[in-house]
Amino acid sequence: MDFAIPAAIAEDLARFKDFIKAYIIPSLPSWNRQRGLPPAFFHHMGEGGWFSLNFKDGRLTRESALKEVLVAEALAAVSPGVAIAALAHIDLGLMGMFLFGSQDHHRTYGPDAVRGKTVMCLGNTENIAGSDVAGISMTAEKIDGGWVLNGTKAYVTNGYIADLGVITAVSDPDAARNSRLSMYLVDLNTEGVSRKKLNKQVWIPSDLTRLKLDNVFVPDDHLLGIRGRGLQQVLEIFTNSRVPISALTLGGAVGAFNLAVNHMQKRKIFGKKIINYQAKAFEISDYYAKIESARLMLWKACWDFDQADDFRQAASMAKYLAVEIARQVTVWAADIFGAASVVHEHPIHKYPMDTWGASLGEGTQDVQKLIIFREFMKRWRVNADRLPHQTKSRLVPDP
Ligand SMILES: Cc1cc2nc3c(=O)[nH]c(=O)nc-3n(C[C@H](O)[C@H](O)[C@H](O)COP(=O)(O)OP(=O)(O)OC[C@H]3O[C@@H](n4cnc5c(N)ncnc54)[C@H](O)[C@@H]3O)c2cc1C
Repeated sequence: MDFAIPAAIAEDLARFKDFIKAYIIPSLPSWNRQRGLPPAFFHHMGEGGWFSLNFKDGRLTRESALKEVLVAEALAAVSPGVAIAALAHIDLGLMGMFLFGSQDHHRTYGPDAVRGKTVMCLGNTENIAGSDVAGISMTAEKIDGGWVLNGTKAYVTNGYIADLGVITAVSDPDAARNSRLSMYLVDLNTEGVSRKKLNKQVWIPSDLTRLKLDNVFVPDDHLLGIRGRGLQQVLEIFTNSRVPISALTLGGAVGAFNLAVNHMQKRKIFGKKIINYQAKAFEISDYYAKIESARLMLWKACWDFDQADDFRQAASMAKYLAVEIARQVTVWAADIFGAASVVHEHPIHKYPMDTWGASLGEGTQDVQKLIIFREFMKRWRVNADRLPHQTKSRLVPDP
């Protein structure tokens, strides 16, 4: 097993860290004040090649998962709120088009989206249904030449700025629960779309928006994937985006940890630097080991993905562990700063709050446990005499 980061990815990562220093860090105070990201952020990310989807030979293509998670972790170490905007654009919105869009969708919308010239989002959650995806109520009524969508998506990251949305709606209300939904590519600058930015306290400066669709017409060729498969399709998007959101969560833990360790080396209490109290040094050991273990699980999920192995369980375990560990590390790190940590403008303040956001996106901890258990039992049944993790299944069958 080789844990070395391939040279090309290591070089890209070094360039990305320079980009963070030169562009992201100086811009953060103003983005945070405005509680929003300018179009230029998406342009620079796209032009630098920092999104994990590319456009090549007339199609969207996907990069190595390892590179994607290293980029997401580095960005989130500085600002989980900036990282989530990139993730929602690429791994939620564009991912829907990558996985389920036609060649025409790829050709028409792909190039501008990967360059960050158009921004995307995914609208699934409603007030009445989040974890229970099949319980949504937005309607899609079939008419000549297309569909008419009505309803409200309650929590949409990038919903305030997105040009295109991947939206789930009930197309077949009388069908079985798992075949009632379809997925649509919706032009959000069209008549009937209204947006309300919510006043949230996590993942600043990204926006969280209520998206209302009032008799919005969607042409037939904007159905994504297969009619009636919207539930399965949106769950597949979440499986994929669980890998980068684990990296984002881990990045938040790393960012908070680094700030705390720096502070411990400077701040003197009762004549001694905090780091020189052994009780505190042991806390560093404890959290450092936990961060490393979360990263190993995440890299395992990337490995499974890059080998085209079934990465569903690994992705959920990566998310579950990243959130558990980030919850501990970020609160600990804030505590190291004492009272200063409660002040909104203090750099450490955002990290515990952002872990809260990360615990919800792409499924709560309970949802991760449901998936881990379901996958565990599948493997256990097939191979009860071996440890379940020794059994491999492939997402893409061997040729
Ligand atoms: C900052 C932020 C950004 C978001 N961005 C987006 C976005 O871009 N697009 C989008 O569509 N959604 C988005 N969401 C919504 C997010 O995906 C949902 O909040 C999440 O799926 C949980 O759904 P819910 O809030 O309805 O909670 P609920 O589903 O109502 O869950 C409530 C509680 O019940 C528990 N629970 C649920 N099911 C089970 C079960 N089977 N067994 C035991 N316990 C269970 C949950 O773990 C949780 O503790 C965002 C949310 C936040 C906070």
